[in-house]
Amino acid sequence: MQLYPLFADLTDRPVLVVGGGDVADRKVAMLLRAGARVTVGAPMLGPELREKLQHGRITYRPGVYQSEWQDGVWLVIAATRSRPLNARIAADGHAQQRLVNVVDDPALSSFQVPALIDRSPLLVAISSGGVAPVLARRLRERIESLLDPTMGSLLQLAQRYRARIRQRYTDLASRRRFYDWLHDGPVNALIRAAHPVRAERELVTALSSASEPANKGSVALVGAGPGDPGLLTLRALRALNEADVILHDELIGPQILDLARRDALQIAVGKRGGGTHTPQETIHAFLLQHAQAGRRVIRLKGGDPFVFGRGGEELAFLREHGIAYEVVPGITAAVACAAYSGVPLTHRDHAQSVRFVTAHCQQSLDTLDWHDLARERQTLAIYMGVSQLDELTRQLLAHGRAPDTAFALIENGSLPNQRTLTGALNELPTLAQHHAIRAPAIVILGEVASLADAAHWHGELIGNPPRHPAIPRNLADAA
Ligand code: SAH
Repeated sequence: MQLYPLFADLTDRPVLVVGGGDVADRKVAMLLRAGARVTVGAPMLGPELREKLQHGRITYRPGVYQSEWQDGVWLVIAATRSRPLNARIAADGHAQQRLVNVVDDPALSSFQVPALIDRSPLLVAISSGGVAPVLARRLRERIESLLDPTMGSLLQLAQRYRARIRQRYTDLASRRRFYDWLHDGPVNALIRAAHPVRAERELVTALSSASEPANKGSVALVGAGPGDPGLLTLRALRALNEADVILHDELIGPQILDLARRDALQIAVGKRGGGTHTPQETIHAFLLQHAQAGRRVIRLKGGDPFVFGRGGEELAFLREHGIAYEVVPGITAAVACAAYSGVPLTHRDHAQSVRFVTAHCQQSLDTLDWHDLARERQTLAIYMGVSQLDELTRQLLAHGRAPDTAFALIENGSLPNQRTLTGALNELPTLAQHHAIRAPAIVILGEVASLADAAHWHGELIGNPPRHPAIPRNLADAA
């Protein structure tokens, strides 16, 4: 072991930082968070440090470094731009047995500052002994994304009840089970759902109950986004990491499922365009069975669970059966596909609104208000079965949408095999058939879609720009 790990209590202890620039300021900020009494020595201070001085948060020693500055301090940080000066500060410090850190110079330092994940009172510190700072930083990002930001609040609550927990659960094994319950069960869920008072009440109730609390199981309705794993939210990633059971739509790719806890049970439900459909009742039965067995279940859906995702029905079912749940939003296909094909859905020159419409089957087509949908200066994002394109186009044209209105049809949006087909509305079915567009695909229809021809950036573009640029008709009339 090259370095001895140590967490220092610097509360109210004097420390010295030499240097007045940005780097020094960052070190000072961290020391202040830890409650240290910071003196900064430098010929002059940058704006951030000046502000800290004005607020009385630091003491300032103006001028050129003097070795007496180190008298009586516990730690020294050298953050000047001059290596010889840094070396002198380190030598002075080491002569007096001070712990000295020279920023970015492990050779001159007697202590190093680790990469840190702060969920106080929990701190995770990473060091590569200065050998691989990039690796340390990457690891930090990984761990940062795994630990919910509310973890600190849970630990603070647990800290306040520590003595009572110890009293109630005197043997180690049962105490461990209680702490597991605290992390996996309703108390943590309530804290995450922004109900700190109810969380505390739940903890108190559990402590005064005669029996050990048992985990009830819960369901998280999680949006997985359109396919690119990079579009998962951090919260979705954490849910995947904690899941016992994952009920996922068929469309969720292996790259996303690979991010789940290794030993989680994965069950594919739902359907792939035209294939067999897992009945909703079967999905409900799975949810119930696993949640009632005390497991953490994720219902993982493409895009966002509340956009054409039957998330509402599943929530109603869970509520009926008294099962705890949370909902993690995802990036819906319309938003992702627009971004990945360079189409600003509400570009202010072209559209004042965007409408998410579903046209999956004849039934959904029949109930649409076509007159309203055919209006100009609005963008339609049409979630659809590709087989409905004929009828969709016919209705829009029949209700007055201009034949040269631009569309962008995006297949496999955000995935490596994304294709974006553009053209004019009256050619939509022919072009889609000619290029063999398959599900999943979404149509973005409206003046904004013409921007894809220039602004497209992901995957393949099959451009057939409308022959007449799709400018709003009132402008065309004026011309
Ligand atoms: N809840 C999902 C939508 C489910 S409906 C969401 O919020 O995105 C399924 C439809 O979404 C598909 O028929 C298709 O129109 C669209 N879709 C989903 N993923 C897509 C993708 N990667 N590219 C294009 N369209 C997609």
